[in-house]
Amino acid sequence: MLFSEEKVSEIIEKNDIVDVVSEYMNLKKSGSNYSSLCPFHSEKTPSFSVSSPKQIFYCFGCGVGGNVVSFIQKIERLSYVEALRLLAERAGVELARDRDPKAIKEANEKKAIYRINQEAARFFYSKLQDNRMPMQYLTGRGLSEAVIKRFGLGYAPNEWQNLLNDMSKKGFSAAALHQAGLLAKKEDAGRYYDKFRNRVMFPIIDLKGNVIAFGGRVMDDSKPKYLNSPETPVFSKGHNIYAMNFVKKVAGLENIIIVEGYMDVIALHQFGVNNAVASLGTAFTEHQAKLLKRFSNEIVIAYDSDLAGQAATLKGLAILEKAGCMVKVLSLPSGKDPDEYIRKEGLEAFKERIKKSLPLIAYKIESVKKGLDTNNLQDRIRFTKGFSEILKDIESNTEVDAYVKKYSKDMQVDETAVYAELNRLRDKNKNGNNKHNIISDKKSESKMLKGEIIAETYLLNICIYYFDKAKNIFKMIEPEDFSVDLHEKIASLIKTKSDEGKTITAGEIISCFENEEVKLQAAALFSIELPEGKSDDLMMSCIDKIKQSKNTRRIQELTEKMNALFQAGEKEQANKLFVEIIELQKLRK
Ligand SMILES: [Zn+2]
Repeated sequence: MLFSEEKVSEIIEKNDIVDVVSEYMNLKKSGSNYSSLCPFHSEKTPSFSVSSPKQIFYCFGCGVGGNVVSFIQKIERLSYVEALRLLAERAGVELARDRDPKAIKEANEKKAIYRINQEAARFFYSKLQDNRMPMQYLTGRGLSEAVIKRFGLGYAPNEWQNLLNDMSKKGFSAAALHQAGLLAKKEDAGRYYDKFRNRVMFPIIDLKGNVIAFGGRVMDDSKPKYLNSPETPVFSKGHNIYAMNFVKKVAGLENIIIVEGYMDVIALHQFGVNNAVASLGTAFTEHQAKLLKRFSNEIVIAYDSDLAGQAATLKGLAILEKAGCMVKVLSLPSGKDPDEYIRKEGLEAFKERIKKSLPLIAYKIESVKKGLDTNNLQDRIRFTKGFSEILKDIESNTEVDAYVKKYSKDMQVDETAVYAELNRLRDKNKNGNNKHNIISDKKSESKMLKGEIIAETYLLNICIYYFDKAKNIFKMIEPEDFSVDLHEKIASLIKTKSDEGKTITAGEIISCFENEEVKLQAAALFSIELPEGKSDDLMMSCIDKIKQSKNTRRIQELTEKMNALFQAGEKEQANKLFVEIIELQKLRK
């Protein structure tokens, strides 16, 4: 047990509930009780009440209630032990760990940095008030003075030792300022200088209200655009979320909106979107995911569309999902960032967009769908592949079924085709770790080969029906690429004629063969009917199919060779083939 019963009683006794709650909201006295708007649900008339004699709180609206510890747990989203710790610190109750010398040293170090940062934030703030240029920059970007004050924005002057001199006068040592990440050091001369110069300064504040770091932004096109404090004993980029200190106070928080930069956050808050934060980098860490999850299960990503689609971003979003967050993606008209959008269209339009934001999976599917034409066979094939790639990671089969049903119809693709592709991808994943078992499913292999024969037959027929296409076709594919002997021979005949600028009919081709049985086979081949639809689409998909099958055959051959070499102890040779196989597999779609 971390806290003895006596300790808990002491902590509760020394933290009067009315005092504690007053630090979070305005309480109005009514009789022996106090009342306020509830911080835990959204309401217009106060139903939250705090009783001084009973030392409890209760909300008649949403039914939450408890003592001072439960209040801290709820409002700070802390565990019981963490809440007790916070209250102990608040009331100066000494805990056992407070006597551990190492812990004391670390705590003191942190306290010193908090003080320095607080003081530096004041310095930057006053410099902003004194300098027209940065102030004009901020107001020019549409920020109000009130919001500038609320977020404590400042300005780091364009000088080398301005902050250093000011802070020295206040008694802070250069070494301490350096540890806080505010100074840089010239290694050879051992001299310190201001790290942030000629930048608008954004204090980064933790959930307890400590200034833990700064972000500095240039006001022109110089680089880097953003400069952040380095990692310090109080600041770790992957552990913090910008503006979470404001968002955590929002009553009835439905979701949290994540935007790209500080400016976006501040602009959104100014326009009444009080649940916007920024992640200090696009790839989320587990810490950040957990932090967000403490406050809301629903996360809405509002990056500009380029960034949202990027692999790094999607990876970050996967971390959020893994932490149990429901991730949605807000899409804004192309090229617009949230800041611009809300300025132009207003709060209500923005809220409407939020409501329409898509779950991550649907967003990814929509991205694949973008620009594809359902009338085009190639596009439909492309969709099937991209679509299956997304679905393969979904664990729930019911969910997969629902997506397949919806989008197969939308995109006019065959459900079976999607499931087949999905199985292929999942199989591939399953065997991904087993170097020497690359070809796994003989059954699906033979199905594929059958498809290849059909594709070859169609393609040869296209050459005959539309002889002018033959030249083009044999630019993309060689007669040797055909898997059936007879097909290869026919292809070669057509290619030769077409190269000579001549034509050839099905009858002429058949007459080229002496063997009666082969003649019959060739006749059968040319007696089939081409499927309906655009011949060019069919042509391309046939060529694609033939090439893919050839690739598969080659992989199969090499794999057999590799396995033989491996078993014969020729590991180096086997490995060489393995590399080749991997290269070929990359060509697979
Ligand atoms: Zn309530």
